[in-house]
Amino acid sequence: MISKEYGNYTFICDICGAGSDEEFETFQDAVDAKGDIGWKSKRMSGEWADVCPECIELEGREES
Ligand SMILES: [Zn+2]
Repeated sequence: MISKEYGNYTFICDICGAGSDEEFETFQDAVDAKGDIGWKSKRMSGEWADVCPECIELEGREES
């Protein structure tokens, strides 16, 4: 999910709960930068979740 803290937007991983190191001034900036910082949207239980690079990597390992 995208979370607003201290006036800036950050990503919170919907799998492990880790926060992104990066902060963004606007919601749109965060959405635009998501791929650049290695985060992905993933459909989980019918809802879109934001997933951190570590969890993406773990899932990739399980699949291969
Ligand atoms: Zn994660």
